[in-house]
Amino acid sequence: MNHYDQLHRFLIDDANVRGEIARLDDSLQHIVHSYEYPVQIQKLLGEMAAATCLLTAILKFKGEIGLQIQGGGAVKYAVVNATDEYTLRGVARWDEELASLPERFEDLMEKGVLVITITPEGGERYQGVVALDKPTLAECIENYFAQSEQLATQVKLYTDLSDPERVKAAGMLLQVMPTQAENTNVAQDTGFEHLSTLAETLTSEEVFGLAVEDVLYRLYHQQKVELFEPQSITFACSCSRSRSAEALRNVEKAELLQIIEEEGAVQMNCQYCHTEYRFDTIDVEAIHAGHFDSAPDNPQ
Ligand SMILES: [Zn+2]
Repeated sequence: MNHYDQLHRFLIDDANVRGEIARLDDSLQHIVHSYEYPVQIQKLLGEMAAATCLLTAILKFKGEIGLQIQGGGAVKYAVVNATDEYTLRGVARWDEELASLPERFEDLMEKGVLVITITPEGGERYQGVVALDKPTLAECIENYFAQSEQLATQVKLYTDLSDPERVKAAGMLLQVMPTQAENTNVAQDTGFEHLSTLAETLTSEEVFGLAVEDVLYRLYHQQKVELFEPQSITFACSCSRSRSAEALRNVEKAELLQIIEEEGAVQMNCQYCHTEYRFDTIDVEAIHAGHFDSAPDNPQ
């Protein structure tokens, strides 16, 4: 099955509805295995990663998108970032004091919010916030579209944790075409409701086991479906030595020199990919003099 780590867009021509299917395997392993995450957190990060890919394709922009959960309970925060090139990274923090985490999404979140941040290249940052007060993340994202875009949208998210070494995630989205929105926001007008009811029947076994063409045939063989070239999804971290150095400019020089004296170097670890960046006295002097040139970016 070579349809993983790809985003597929399709159009249901006769209904003016667009759709997407994303399936993640390799790209997700770096995210879900970067810490000893409980399965509930792996599932959450998997769903968030799939959702981020779906949103990247639907919210046309060039730049970065971030899905961030700010939780009030077992989950402290969880974040997945992506670029318009479908490079993903993500991290989560949870209450490690808890012996076990709740299974239900609502219990895991406890009055959390989902913040969707879009940072267009050279443009103004946009943020949307939606309460995590529905039984699933997918329904919360549907609610986001209902509030912000006023477009009938359906989101389905899946995770497969049967092999703990290879956590998989998938997502499917259906949305009324925005050009038609004024006339067709009432779902029945477009047949959206019918398409949506069919999408509801898509099982986890099918979404993970069938080729995308077969998934679409299974659901929509009575419709005229146009499937576009897929786009690859990969893991990539945007951290760098110069970005870390930039962050150190906000710390007092004396404090940094003190750390170097005690520990030999200022060490910074990327929370997403665990790359380690080390800075010595010469680096710190240069950073604070404002002429740090990021020599080799990855010393390892
Ligand atoms: Zn990194």
